[in-house]
Amino acid sequence: MTTQSLDALEQKQDFIRRHIGPDEAQTQAMLNDIGAESVDALIDEIVPSDIRLSQLPNIGESKTEVQALADLKAVASKNKVNDTYIGLGYYGTLTPNVILRNVLENPGWYTAYTPYQPEIAQGRLESLLNYQQMCLDLTGLDLASASLLDEGTAAAEAMALAKRVAKNKKSNLFFISSDVYPQTIDVVKQRAEMFGFDTIVAPAEEAADHDIFGALLQYPSATGEVKDISDLIAKIHEKKAIVAVAADIMSLVMLKAPGELGADAVIGSSQRFGVPMGYGGPHAAFFTTSDKYKRSLPGRIIGVSKDTRDNPALRMAMQTREQHIRREKANSNICTAQVLLANMAAFYAVYHGPQGLKTIANRIHRLTDILCLGTATKGLTALHANYFDTLTFNLDNKEEIVARALAANLNLRTDVDGQISVSLDETTTRENVATLFDVLLGEGHGLDVAALDKQITDCGHSSIPASLVRESEILTHPVFNSYHSETEMLRYIKKLENKDLALNHSMISLGSCTMKLNATAQMIPVSWPEFANMHPFAPVDQAVGYKEMITELGDWLVELTGYDNISMQPNSGAQGEYAGLIAIHKYHESRGEGHRNICLIPASAHGTNPASAMMVGMKVVVVDCDKEGNVDMADLKAKAEELRDSLSCIMITYPSTHGVYEKTIAEICNIIHDNGGQVYLDGANMNAQVGLTSPGHIGADVSHLNLHKTFAIPHGGGGPGMGPIGVKSHLAPFLPDHALINVSESTQGNGAVSAAPFGSAGILCISYLYCAMLGKQGVTDSTKYAITNANYLAKKLSEHYPILYTGANGRVAHECIVDLRPLKESSGVTEMDVAKRLMDYGFHAPTMSFPVAGTLMIEPTESESKVEIDRFIEAMVCIREEINKVEKGEWTADDNPLHNAPHTMADVTSEWNRAYSIKEAVYPVAAVAENKFWPTVNRIDDVYGDRNLICSCPATDTYKD
Ligand SMILES: *Cc1c(COP(=O)(O)O)cnc(C)c1O
Repeated sequence: MTTQSLDALEQKQDFIRRHIGPDEAQTQAMLNDIGAESVDALIDEIVPSDIRLSQLPNIGESKTEVQALADLKAVASKNKVNDTYIGLGYYGTLTPNVILRNVLENPGWYTAYTPYQPEIAQGRLESLLNYQQMCLDLTGLDLASASLLDEGTAAAEAMALAKRVAKNKKSNLFFISSDVYPQTIDVVKQRAEMFGFDTIVAPAEEAADHDIFGALLQYPSATGEVKDISDLIAKIHEKKAIVAVAADIMSLVMLKAPGELGADAVIGSSQRFGVPMGYGGPHAAFFTTSDKYKRSLPGRIIGVSKDTRDNPALRMAMQTREQHIRREKANSNICTAQVLLANMAAFYAVYHGPQGLKTIANRIHRLTDILCLGTATKGLTALHANYFDTLTFNLDNKEEIVARALAANLNLRTDVDGQISVSLDETTTRENVATLFDVLLGEGHGLDVAALDKQITDCGHSSIPASLVRESEILTHPVFNSYHSETEMLRYIKKLENKDLALNHSMISLGSCTMKLNATAQMIPVSWPEFANMHPFAPVDQAVGYKEMITELGDWLVELTGYDNISMQPNSGAQGEYAGLIAIHKYHESRGEGHRNICLIPASAHGTNPASAMMVGMKVVVVDCDKEGNVDMADLKAKAEELRDSLSCIMITYPSTHGVYEKTIAEICNIIHDNGGQVYLDGANMNAQVGLTSPGHIGADVSHLNLHKTFAIPHGGGGPGMGPIGVKSHLAPFLPDHALINVSESTQGNGAVSAAPFGSAGILCISYLYCAMLGKQGVTDSTKYAITNANYLAKKLSEHYPILYTGANGRVAHECIVDLRPLKESSGVTEMDVAKRLMDYGFHAPTMSFPVAGTLMIEPTESESKVEIDRFIEAMVCIREEINKVEKGEWTADDNPLHNAPHTMADVTSEWNRAYSIKEAVYPVAAVAENKFWPTVNRIDDVYGDRNLICSCPATDTYKD
């Protein structure tokens, strides 16, 4: 029998010890090696005392998983989920359960990282290639990206592409058709304003009347009209302008592809291919264009290359266009995208295949025909005779109908005066159509769905013009025609999953990316219908649960960041940067200082920083770093003073990406403020701040948080993410707003940075539960353990490798940089060799060559136990011994396990005549043999793939032999 009280017993059951990897004994052992008295003593050595907080953040006590889930369920149940017919890019959809459970709810898929190490990511790369193929088939163009953040931002990216490639170089005017979705217009106009483009919103027919560099059309239009736009496109082309078409993916199954109508770029959302609405996201947007614009395409592209055995192998192509390489010259600032959701949409297409999709699209269309015919019979005629799934009605009695709709628990589109629209989707039933008749016509209309259906079948009338009926085949590739039984589908998903290394296999210690535990309990509410099935433009009084969750999470994040306000709108860290810089710009402007346009950025900054600065029309000036990795204060001071009249801001990461807490951070903030600038503190490294210090406390004005790093949203294999921004009160009036939903009283009339008012609201429950289950003690302990783990790792590795940029006392922050450059000199072994060799040991490589070329940046996070960290250290030490053998000439430069890494089944089952044994190759240490992860391809040739660019599914015979 125990003598402990109930309190004491229950405390031992809290979630904190599940989230934090090391237990007490492991912690003590690590501290002994580090040479620190206690965790707190270690933290005191590392985090500068003048920026420390004096008390724990006020976010409440930790809750058990059971309690936190029960409490959130009560909040969720305050949402009233009506049947939705609002449309505008968000539709009810039936996520096939085989995809729901085995992809969305499966850590094998959702905990993977962006496929920068393609040899252990062939599964999701194949799925993303399927996504690209699906987008190409449906849009009728020849190059697709592997997902953008949402339809609104994809449209804005299309405008930017138009500006880059249009032959009409003189024009600064972009045309937006007035029948584009209102939230898209909002996002595009904001982006245009920041780029310094002019925009005009007018009826589509007028597009060719203006001297423009590009135009954005919607197909079908926001009111549902299906119209042949090929002549219009031809006329716009005569003006040497680019035409982007925002298209509805489901309609494209039946309609002629926009590419066939002449569009240069096609964008849209793939949400309705099986991805729940989630009150706005996350969903994957698609973007396709013509091959000739390949260098201008925004976002990641998956391409086919080959490995050292000449087998086809996939990887991200043409990265030289992207922010991490080209910085302010990049095509866009997109980093985190929507990989998990793109995969879901691709699997939806794989599962249904072309016939299944045609059935779904035809059924939606038929129900719409029935609705149209029925209402017309009763004298209520839809605005357009040609449509796919959306009918618009001009009404005298709008109020009456809206009241009836609400009484029947359904939502119509109502934002246009005197008008309602009704969009159907695959969840719509015949009973729903009968109810819609009641709502639109009042009861007693006497209409019969079955009779109307028969009438339409008999008369053969079509509401899609003959010229717009799709004739080209879709999804002819075998991948879309092979997995239609659930058994086959289940195995296909599993086959791809098996090719990928995710957090459910081993630690992914990516510096700056914070791959911590994504607790199962935190993931569960993502699929609750109360959260999953809410339309982002539902009346706010139906989204009370969402509002409560978003507000409470927002309050916690405000507390943790030391700011005054927060905007949940940005869908990624980079989008947060963009939103934050807009706030800075508008703040200056409000004070009559709109000319301030210089953005100082330290050399160690992430590539998104300069790319975002460029998007708001700022000029980037790089500030040097000194030998210790700190910002060079003399250089900073000189530049800030020299540019004081045009200084807009600094973008600084803290602790820096060099992994040090600059002692001068408060002084840096002062220097910038003294010279009229604002401080944007990149919050990607918040995992080294939470509970100990905060950006607001340090003196910064605005930061984004990567909720997919510090706050436990999983990386999804390269997205989703969320990048809310915290601001001091003087910037709050300049936070994003939304065209359809009033997000806050103080920001009314501001433009939007995302299509949905609260970004990817559907995954905010993850960060909410992270905070609720850890509480003030747990979030702070997490930071302390993240630092402890990093210092243990740095200490152990420092016996074998030089560690770059340790603080004055030899300590690092929450990550450390291993310098491989000296070894490259002495042995020829590169950082790439080490990264690939780690795969043979069952590990994903740490961040490579960022922020310093020729290095690895390692961030273990608080969630890894000493056992796992020791396994990683063992691998790195063994690799060091292998390098030693190359250095000493025991192995030649091209016959050693590093050069040939990673090793595959194909290697060990072929004739073996290498200077080292098979065991050394694939089971280099005992623990590997016990839980082997096999890379499925050998090292991939990046250059070959970029020279021979193929970004669609290769014919299956290329996979033979
Ligand atoms: C991850 C990261 C970003 C970009 O965030 P995304 O969510 O990928 O857009 C910016 N800065 C730093 C330092 C980062 O690590």
